[in-house]
Amino acid sequence: MPGTDQASARDWSRKTCTCDSCVDGWLSPRMKERLEGEGDFLRYVSISLLSDLGGLPEDEVLPDWVIAEDPSLHFIPMELHTKMSPAFYRGYAVVVDVMVQILQRPAGAAAGCVPTPTAIEARLRELCTAARKSGGKAAALTPDDVEDVEAFLHAGGEAEFALEALTDRAMEKSPAGSEFLRRPAIRVQEEELAGEVGELPVCANDLDFELVRKRLGLPPHFIGPHWFFLTDSESEDDIDGDDSEDVYAGQRGRGGEGAVMKRRDR
Ligand SMILES: [Zn+2]
Repeated sequence: MPGTDQASARDWSRKTCTCDSCVDGWLSPRMKERLEGEGDFLRYVSISLLSDLGGLPEDEVLPDWVIAEDPSLHFIPMELHTKMSPAFYRGYAVVVDVMVQILQRPAGAAAGCVPTPTAIEARLRELCTAARKSGGKAAALTPDDVEDVEAFLHAGGEAEFALEALTDRAMEKSPAGSEFLRRPAIRVQEEELAGEVGELPVCANDLDFELVRKRLGLPPHFIGPHWFFLTDSESEDDIDGDDSEDVYAGQRGRGGEGAVMKRRDR
């Protein structure tokens, strides 16, 4: 079985929590906050881009510039490239949104706050069923959303892609990641996060992404990103000072819940 060698190198039953506040003994309050923040950012990027894509032909593959701009899309395996239509992307954005919603539930929530692929798929099924029953009235998803989710799943889309994006991007931006070392702007974000989580207990699990991946049902080693673009150039991002993360940071703010997803002005 692939991945067995890496997994066996570590005793996963060993207790690692040192704060006594970890969800299920592994998801530390600071890690939860970090994943929520990254998930919220990924969701923001998808929703912003999608709001700009109204004119794209439905039967064509997304243009490269769209794939380049959304880090979540870099975790779609390249074999699926020919299936990456606007409907596929919209369906994927719903999956990312559901993943973030689960993650944002409070620790100890009865429904659970751990977005495993099974939990994401179950919630998607619930939302799609509710949308079909309501006929589009007062449901979280519209009938069009349901069609998009089906387009994503029928094309081979999986919740795992969103979880790969979440864990990889959160890791890369953390002090455990290489982007953290290379990009001054990322280190500034980390300082801001440190300020926001200052009250939360410190735990040995705070940067243990291997443990997080294992418990989410992913292989301990990262898979992807599968796409690389010249626009990934960090030095360029930091010099022009106008990458999407800067725009996002300006709109973040914890005051108004649910009002974060504003269209990005261009
Ligand atoms: Zn802990």
